[in-house]
Amino acid sequence: MKWYSLESPDILEKLGTSRIHGLNDEQARQRIEKYGLNELAKEEREPAWKMLLKSFKEPLIVILLIAISLALASAAYDFFISGDQGHAMASVYEAVAIVLIVIINSGLTFHQTRSAQKSLDALSDMRQHHMKVLRNDNWISVSASHLVPGDIVNVKSGDFIEGDLRWLKTAELQIDESHLTGESDAIQKTTDVMPEDTELGDRTDMGYSGSMVVNGNGIGVVVATGMATELGKISGLMQSVDNQKTPIEKSVHGLSKKLMIIAAVIIAITIGYDLVKQLIQVGSISMDSIGGISATAIAIAVASIPDAMPVVLSIVLTIGAKMMASQKGLVKSLSSVETLGSTTYIASDKTGTLTKNEMAVTRFLANGKVYNVEGNGYTPIGEFIREDGQPTDSRDYQRFLEVAVLNNEAEIKPDDKQNWRPFGNPTDVSLVVLAAKEHIQRADLLADKGERDIDIVRIFPFDSTRKMMTVVIKENGRYYSLTKGAPDVIKPLTKFALIHGQQVVIDLAAENIEEAMLTFANDALRTISITQREITKEEALNASSTDLERDLTFLGLVGIIDPPREEVKVAVHKLSQAAVNVVMITGDHAMTAKAIARQLGIIQSDDARVITGRDLETMSDAQLADAVLDTRVYARVTPEHKQRIIKQLQEHDQVVAMTGDGINDAPALKAADIGIAMGINGTEVTKDAADLILLDDKFTTIEKSVESGRTIFANILNFMRHELTTNVAEVLSLLLGVFLITSSIGNVTEVTPTLTALMVLWVNMVSDSLPSFALGYDEAESDVMKQRPRDAQKSILADGMLRRVLFRGGVMGAMVFLAFVWAASQGLSVAQSQTIAFLTLVFGQLWHVYDARSVKTLFDRNPFSNSRLTLAVAFAATSSILVTLIPFFNNVMGTAPLSMTMYLIIIVVSAIPTFIISGVKKMISNKRDSGLSESLQFDRE
Ligand code: ADP
Ligand code: MG
Repeated sequence: MKWYSLESPDILEKLGTSRIHGLNDEQARQRIEKYGLNELAKEEREPAWKMLLKSFKEPLIVILLIAISLALASAAYDFFISGDQGHAMASVYEAVAIVLIVIINSGLTFHQTRSAQKSLDALSDMRQHHMKVLRNDNWISVSASHLVPGDIVNVKSGDFIEGDLRWLKTAELQIDESHLTGESDAIQKTTDVMPEDTELGDRTDMGYSGSMVVNGNGIGVVVATGMATELGKISGLMQSVDNQKTPIEKSVHGLSKKLMIIAAVIIAITIGYDLVKQLIQVGSISMDSIGGISATAIAIAVASIPDAMPVVLSIVLTIGAKMMASQKGLVKSLSSVETLGSTTYIASDKTGTLTKNEMAVTRFLANGKVYNVEGNGYTPIGEFIREDGQPTDSRDYQRFLEVAVLNNEAEIKPDDKQNWRPFGNPTDVSLVVLAAKEHIQRADLLADKGERDIDIVRIFPFDSTRKMMTVVIKENGRYYSLTKGAPDVIKPLTKFALIHGQQVVIDLAAENIEEAMLTFANDALRTISITQREITKEEALNASSTDLERDLTFLGLVGIIDPPREEVKVAVHKLSQAAVNVVMITGDHAMTAKAIARQLGIIQSDDARVITGRDLETMSDAQLADAVLDTRVYARVTPEHKQRIIKQLQEHDQVVAMTGDGINDAPALKAADIGIAMGINGTEVTKDAADLILLDDKFTTIEKSVESGRTIFANILNFMRHELTTNVAEVLSLLLGVFLITSSIGNVTEVTPTLTALMVLWVNMVSDSLPSFALGYDEAESDVMKQRPRDAQKSILADGMLRRVLFRGGVMGAMVFLAFVWAASQGLSVAQSQTIAFLTLVFGQLWHVYDARSVKTLFDRNPFSNSRLTLAVAFAATSSILVTLIPFFNNVMGTAPLSMTMYLIIIVVSAIPTFIISGVKKMISNKRDSGLSESLQFDRE
């Protein structure tokens, strides 16, 4: 349908909707049924069977398939050739057991992965775009996917257009449609009907899905949604989002690959060594010894392939993302979880993030005199008191207040309980409240058609680059341009001042204005100058904002209080302990910024350097690079400046998180390592560009997210430490068996592996994997926020991780081997000796997990603080003992029941290395700490 060439009443009728009431819920529901959700078609998710097939390419699965075939082959050999039925059945059971263990493990992993996927889906639902829609007579926020044809929508700068629209009303509405037309300049939209043969790019009465509102506002009616939109027609199938790997995932994958190669080499050497030894000693290779050698080789393969790490890793990251969301920090991708943990600079907007955004005018200057304003909150009651104690005369500020509300789109309204509620831009609200204290209201001014006739002609909304807002009005046949904005921006544009109703040259008032401005700013007040200018009709209708915003007449200056948020002070302090620097970035005056930064503890003294937008303009990149590490306050900056600041910080290898709320902030958010958008007051465009969305708009949420990021990273290191230590211990205990046992000990021969392949498989897939997942749920170790941020460039094996893993794995492996040798030398059976080795390994690991979950020692953490871990350990311990007692498992895993005392001895003995190593470490660190504090005291003296 050629909607652009129809008159709007026809369109509304055709779509069965109303400009006044919008659709009702029932209509909306029916239309969703009829037209479907407003979404582009997505590629289908990979079906389960395909994912299953893929897993057959995994090295561990390949090894296990080999193990299964070997077991079956050996069963066949025993059955048909040697006739040893019992042995044959044992081999069949072994194959079955491998399959069972793999199924148990896949079940556990599948469950975890699915719940992780569910929470990721829930998170992405929370990130949906929204639009303001008229439904049942009310303007409500509707998620983009629920938009239907016939909906009346209201857009403002910073919104995305989510369906194809026909405009019904526009005010300076400019739209970026470059995704459809390739035209990068914004297009001015109007409501004028277009001829039928108009090309897509020239249909100025239409808005198209996926475009961005860059200026002004408008009301439109939705004519097409989903695949019926112009975007839908060209988009074809949307590629479902590729789950990009995070840096740590990449490095863990790299590490896995390396370990895999090491494993292959070890296996090859072992097999070669065994074969050569056999040949030299016996002269030939028997079927039995091939069985023994392949059993050992498979055991080593299973022991050394770190299959679980990548899976556990992505699950732990997801757990982290979910945890952040529950604390109101919504991350877009898992890699942000990681980056947050290594953030070194947080550059935050001041207004609304560091301050409460509950603005109130407390002082103003008009007619050459300063007034103090009384009153509370948004209630429009309060006296004006002249600072010089003289009585007030309302004629002195009448015009100033009128202009303040006419150049303004905010409102206050009483709710059912007669409390006044603000609507619109907080700065503008404060002006509305101020004027209302003198009973001056915009609605009255515009409604009164008696002696005065005022109409709004055009609106140039406030924008943080111009730092001004201008409204053109027609008053009793004359035209005025009303401009308000930052005093230092307005100053050079001002020619006159209004004193006692007379226009005088500005020079007479300039000093007085400057002085008031500085006093206000010094008191941490936000300042705004209010001006007007009489213009011609021609200018009123056509002039650009630059043409209007000059030759101004000064009417007055306001000082607005915007109290800092109390909780921010605590957060800033915490962050500084964590060596994360907080930087304030604001469009406000340098003095206002400094005063607030001081109150929040962002700077400690009034001598601290403040860089202004004007300074930035004259500074070279090199000069900025020198200053950027130590500067904590940037004032009167425009969004474009933010990118320079980010870039220079990044040149110093700093990891920068940056907040932004306006449409012009989107590029800076993209440039930052972590772009942060406000969930409540932010624009859709910034939310789209951000990596982290603060659902409550609070600075403290950033601080909490950084803490979560660090915690999660620490948890990742903990579980990796745990997994890798296990692998080292398993491989070592097997290798020691191969190379050190050269002749029979008791019942054990030189080809008997220390552990059977199934024991190793059990440890990796059951007794070890649950505690690993559980480590992902650990809370922050008490001092994550007292350490320096992690260096993002560093390898995960750095900082002694490798040493710690090799040392502890080595000790544990040696212990397992010794237990095995001891058992053999006591004349115990092969199965009992291997069972003793197996349980020593299992319990060694379970004790060690408590050590692994701390960067310090196991004595530094409450062992029961993570209930999932307690459960996982209890389960692993019980089930591992059970498999030594139940005949079926005895058969297939090669385990054997032990005596009661033996179990106890193993449990206790396997604890010894962990406690000794951790204990020694604790003693050393205590000594170092006390040494440190002594030297600190010494320093102080
Ligand atoms: P920030 O968000 O850091 O507080 P802004 O860009 O909102 O900075 O504001 C910068 C300056 O622009 C303010 O100090 C004030 O002088 C002026 N200003 C802010 N809001 C308005 C507005 N609605 N109308 C006119 N001037 C404004
Ligand atoms: Mg602002």
